[in-house]
Amino acid sequence: MTKKQFKAESKRLLEMMINSIYTHKEVFLRELISNASDAIDKIYYKALTDDSLTFDKDSYFVKVIPDKENRTLTIRDTGIGMAKEELENNLGVIAKSGSLAFKTENEIKDGYDIIGQFGVGFYSAFMVADVVTVISKALGSDEAYKWESTGADGYTIEPYEKEEVGTEIILQIKENTEDESYDEYLEAYQLKATIKKYSDFIRYPIKMDITSSRPKDGSENEFEEFTEEQVINSMVPIWRKNKSELTDEDYEHFYSEKHYGFDKPLKHVHIKVDGTLRYNAILYIPEKMPFDYYSKEYEKGLELYSNGVLIMNKCADLLPDYFSFVKGMVDSEDLSLNISREMLQHDRQLKQIAKNIKNKIKSELQKLLRDDREKYETFYSAFGRQLKYGVYSDFGSNKEVLQELLMFHSSTEKKLVTLDEYVSRMPEEQKYIYYASGETNERIEKLPQTELVAEKGYEILYFTDEVDEFAIKMLMSYKDKQFKSVSSGDLGIDTEEKDDAKSEEEAESKELFDYMKTILSEKVKDVRVSKRLKSHPVCLSTDGEVTIEMEKILNAMPD
Ligand code: ADP
Ligand code: MG
Repeated sequence: MTKKQFKAESKRLLEMMINSIYTHKEVFLRELISNASDAIDKIYYKALTDDSLTFDKDSYFVKVIPDKENRTLTIRDTGIGMAKEELENNLGVIAKSGSLAFKTENEIKDGYDIIGQFGVGFYSAFMVADVVTVISKALGSDEAYKWESTGADGYTIEPYEKEEVGTEIILQIKENTEDESYDEYLEAYQLKATIKKYSDFIRYPIKMDITSSRPKDGSENEFEEFTEEQVINSMVPIWRKNKSELTDEDYEHFYSEKHYGFDKPLKHVHIKVDGTLRYNAILYIPEKMPFDYYSKEYEKGLELYSNGVLIMNKCADLLPDYFSFVKGMVDSEDLSLNISREMLQHDRQLKQIAKNIKNKIKSELQKLLRDDREKYETFYSAFGRQLKYGVYSDFGSNKEVLQELLMFHSSTEKKLVTLDEYVSRMPEEQKYIYYASGETNERIEKLPQTELVAEKGYEILYFTDEVDEFAIKMLMSYKDKQFKSVSSGDLGIDTEEKDDAKSEEEAESKELFDYMKTILSEKVKDVRVSKRLKSHPVCLSTDGEVTIEMEKILNAMPD
């Protein structure tokens, strides 16, 4: 038998590919299973147009068979198979995708699920195998062939015996090296986990023989091992189901199955978009703040699937920072992926999806605020600070998105209120939205600076979070009403500083004031008469934009 050579470029490409395209070796299994699923899809598609073919769902499946003794891993499918030329053309020429050709030839466009398109996935098998053997029998052919390759050297091809139509790929798993162990690719439980992770929503059953133990008949403490064939994947992704078929429990189950969090989600959102851009998404607002939420370790992002196949665990581009608490997934058929499926090539579609998702989260939060105040407050106590950071670090339109979602404790209502509620209650003559900063609501309540505003009957928002005042400074105003700290020099309240009376009194006490100024020269800029005090003799106030509370925080910051 003569050994055929890969084309020169192919040889280099193969080496490069094997060593650099994929970051995780385990994805070879995803690639081979995706190919098997494509091969079954092709039969399914042919059966749609060919009356002599029937597609009996039960006879189509993928089977994964580890064999520790022989160090082989076999992936068998009952798909369309490959004829001799196809083995040569599709597996012998790297970067040639038979699946892409199939889609073009058959003019398959919308809604069709064939995954392959780059013609490199197959070669990922060489990341874990020294020898790859492909035995295949094409639909409508009497002959089967065996293709075999050790990687960059080339391949052999010869006639072989195979009963059923389909393909069997046998990987001779590499021996362990000092740096790397390959044993996990022979462990049923590991393989099962990998299938679950990447290929859970492949439309056809992926089967494995799984050995476990059970109590022996009639005995409580004697166990026996038994092996049964299990279907590993759940096949129909929950996000493809109709919302009307799904219950809250289904969504909660998915949340915990996916390890999005240990809590129960506070709310889920199921998005189905079918237009020029198609995608499905399930998003969750967690109930509790993850323990590492405000640490460097916390990574935001949504799972990203392309056609039911997991591409990325945490796609950060799908979420703005201020919604980094959102968990969930997006599945789209319209993403242009690069060959390793690890990067998105043109992110136009992704950007559009991200924008839609952002708007959706916002409107869902608004709905929650409107319809279920209690739940919203639970949410706000966990993640409100993140929204405020979002306003503070505004480089674009954050504040438009977020201002309606903010809440602060109110002096008159004694509970959290929104800016909208505040403004709608403002008496006509009130010019500003007043706020006071301090460590706790109780402490703020006792601040002398709040007295005049409170006496006027105006509502004051209490800022107890360090970020509050900074966020408000970015916001500047809400519905044309500016924010005003109760400790600022000019409160905009008429009764306050009647200039004549003030200067008169100031003149009267000039000596005292001068004396105070010398004593406090390091600490205060000026000492003045104030009309804002009611029961307190004295208070501090600020001239500029930076209030006392902000100054404290700024001084505490490392340079
Ligand atoms: P892609 O899937 O992107 O097309 P691959 O390198 O994964 O590229 O596979 C190359 C081609 O080999 C496929 O397009 C398909 O034509 C063929 N092929 C691979 N695996 C199988 C299989 N199990 N059954 C039938 N054809 C297959
Ligand atoms: Mg493929």
